[in-house]
Amino acid sequence: MQSALSSRAMLRAPLRASIVTLSARHVRPFSASSTSYLHLWDHLPGESVNEPSEGLAKLKGRMREERFRVKPLLNTAEHDRFDVVIVGGGIVGLATARELLNRYPKMTVAVLEKEREVAPHQTGHNSGIHAGMYYEPGSTMAHTCVRGSELMYKFCEENKLPAQRCGKMIVATSAEEHKQVEKLYKQGNANGVKGLEIFDAKQVSDMEPNIKAYSALYSPNTGIVDYSLVSDALASQILDSGRADIKLAFEATNFKKLADGSVEITGIEPSQNGPTLQVHAGNVITCGGFYADRLAGLTGGNAKKDQVVTFRGTYYQLKPEYRTMVRMNIYPVPSGGGIPVGVHITPTVNTRRGHALIIGPGACFTFAREGYKFWDFKAKDVIQSFTNPDFWAFALKNISLSFGELYKDLNKRAFLRAAQRYAPDLTIDMVEPSFTGVMSQVFREGGIAASDYIMERKVLGGTTLNVRNAPSPACTASLAIAEMIADIAAEDFQWSKAEKK
Ligand SMILES: Cc1cc2nc3c(=O)[nH]c(=O)nc-3n(C[C@H](O)[C@H](O)[C@H](O)COP(=O)(O)OP(=O)(O)OC[C@H]3O[C@@H](n4cnc5c(N)ncnc54)[C@H](O)[C@@H]3O)c2cc1C
Repeated sequence: MQSALSSRAMLRAPLRASIVTLSARHVRPFSASSTSYLHLWDHLPGESVNEPSEGLAKLKGRMREERFRVKPLLNTAEHDRFDVVIVGGGIVGLATARELLNRYPKMTVAVLEKEREVAPHQTGHNSGIHAGMYYEPGSTMAHTCVRGSELMYKFCEENKLPAQRCGKMIVATSAEEHKQVEKLYKQGNANGVKGLEIFDAKQVSDMEPNIKAYSALYSPNTGIVDYSLVSDALASQILDSGRADIKLAFEATNFKKLADGSVEITGIEPSQNGPTLQVHAGNVITCGGFYADRLAGLTGGNAKKDQVVTFRGTYYQLKPEYRTMVRMNIYPVPSGGGIPVGVHITPTVNTRRGHALIIGPGACFTFAREGYKFWDFKAKDVIQSFTNPDFWAFALKNISLSFGELYKDLNKRAFLRAAQRYAPDLTIDMVEPSFTGVMSQVFREGGIAASDYIMERKVLGGTTLNVRNAPSPACTASLAIAEMIADIAAEDFQWSKAEKK
């Protein structure tokens, strides 16, 4: 036992050494950008003091955070009539509300969110600002990602939110995978992504000594951000307009078009029996994430089509002593039948979860739409997924992927093996559990993972627009998606002729 331990310790020594060297090298010039170094953000926007992380001081810090975070505007409804009601307080709903308030100086807007804070689901569980090389040239995804990423960096700069252009390498581990690197390079250039370069094995290890690859696509403008903070800042701007309300703990459960043309939305406070909550809207936009299809059904849209299936993305994180193992985002080349799978390593800037180097996510089918843990189970959700022929078509076409992801979710070694392909010195004792996110995915006929946003227009007698699919990179792209939604809404609801303008 003794000798096994000491030989393990010896094996680890070179990696420790290289990590120490890497931190020392942290200051070397790196690409053209002076913002490329990872920066530790130890305070919230607008603050300038360094807080101790213990005792009373920590408590004070937390209270400050609470002040910055949106105050619970539960559903006590001072106002119950709005020009537009947006259902879903994730980043897409919030960005859309802000965009409408900016475009139309007289418009009144409410956002309904079923949880007790904004952006608690998909939006609050990721950090990547994508640059735009994954998407088909000419697609809405490509356009909104490239434009959205620049808008996102600008928004963060204006609002003093922690965002970092830390860069990214998409690594190929073989000549076969290198073909994907070349494809992404061409695609990225066609999409207008700036600064892309293809690196050979030596350039990869010069840049990231703990990464071993055949080649890589390097993207200097990929970055990281805290999307919960971005959402809080969006929410603050919405409220500051003086023409808007964010009603938390308001789960919309029924939509009815009234004789005067307006829509009555009723709802409940989740896990309570009553009282019934109510607001009225001229127009409705639903941005419901996991529940996009059910909300569509409630508004008279086609709930049978474009149903949501959810996947759990588990993360591990490097223990603190290994946090400098890499300094930029390291992704494998994409795989997985069109769903975003591929265990990657990413530094984070997150006020809630701190500075970590996370590894993940997996993409494991969930037994509940909010299935953050393996055993979370909701019969309605499982039945809906298992009776969805498009999901079955996907699963059968990708059997090894489906079982592989399930196994990976339960088995830490199998999970890490995915990252060890390009980070060979990574071992199981270097990581600890981190957070888990759940992502929604729509499958279209024949088991094709929907790879673009889906808008269901002019439902409920022409009053309502349903955003049916907003997968990754919808956080990156959110400010550009909001522009697109506002354009569609203006056309569908003929707002250019309306007084609100
Ligand atoms: C693990 C993971 C990693 C990801 N990585 C990235 C990345 O690196 N970069 C990137 O750009 N994107 C990434 N994504 C994708 C991104 O998070 C989503 O595309 C984006 O957050 C979608 O935003 P949304 O507002 O549509 O959904 P959500 O954030 O899920 O918000 C929808 C909201 O609607 C609310 N809601 C639903 N039904 C009702 C109702 N009836 N009444 C009231 N409220 C309701 C929900 O409570 C929820 O808050 C990732 C996602 C996950 C899960």
